Amino acid sequence: MLNNFLKEIVVMLVGKQAEPIADLLNSNKHVNEFLIAKKLNLTINQTRNILYKIADHGLVSSIRKKDRRKGWYTYFWKLEVLKSLEFLQNMLIKKIEQIKNQIKSREVKQFYICEKCNLEFSEENALLHDFTCPECGGVFSLKDNLGVLKELRKNLVKTDREMHIVSEEINKEKEKNSKKTARVVKKTKVKAKKTARKRFNQKKHAKKIKHKKNKRPSKKKRL
Ligand SMILES: [Zn+2]
Repeated sequence: MLNNFLKEIVVMLVGKQAEPIADLLNSNKHVNEFLIAKKLNLTINQTRNILYKIADHGLVSSIRKKDRRKGWYTYFWKLEVLKSLEFLQNMLIKKIEQIKNQIKSREVKQFYICEKCNLEFSEENALLHDFTCPECGGVFSLKDNLGVLKELRKNLVKTDREMHIVSEEINKEKEKNSKKTARVVKKTKVKAKKTARKRFNQKKHAKKIKHKKNKRPSKKKRL
């Protein structure tokens, strides 16, 4: 499911032709941009254009590494999964709001159409045109709102369901991230303890040497 959502986002931002990049970028490690270009059978510039478009929305992160021999930088990329899902969630919230508004409007307002030109007019506009089509001069007929409403309601249920699944994926992702953070914190603590112990031992050792050094001149004085 997550992969489908990531594809949906890429298609939304860049277009259908960029869809396969979603799978490549959904990785724990950053991926070499030349490898992405090769796998997608695109030039490096085409690949970068796609990546920049996604980066404009903050949904990918990159790191760069310098090629020691050639002296240029290569970028490595990966999708920020949580940010991407939250982006999709926001889009779905807006879409649901839009559908609800359309439903409300269809429930209370009449619409008119010219069947020949496939044009639709609100009641005010139809009145303004004297219920005659400005394109062909034909007479408007009343739009069947019930059919439109049925479609809109179906769409609302579908979008609501998608929204629900995206929210679940967001929770999963957050849980994964907090586990990862906990692991890092634990590792850092263990490392910090080791370093502290090492320093303590070094200090102890240094004190011993100092102690010895201090002793020597006192011996000399006695001589
Ligand atoms: Zn017409």
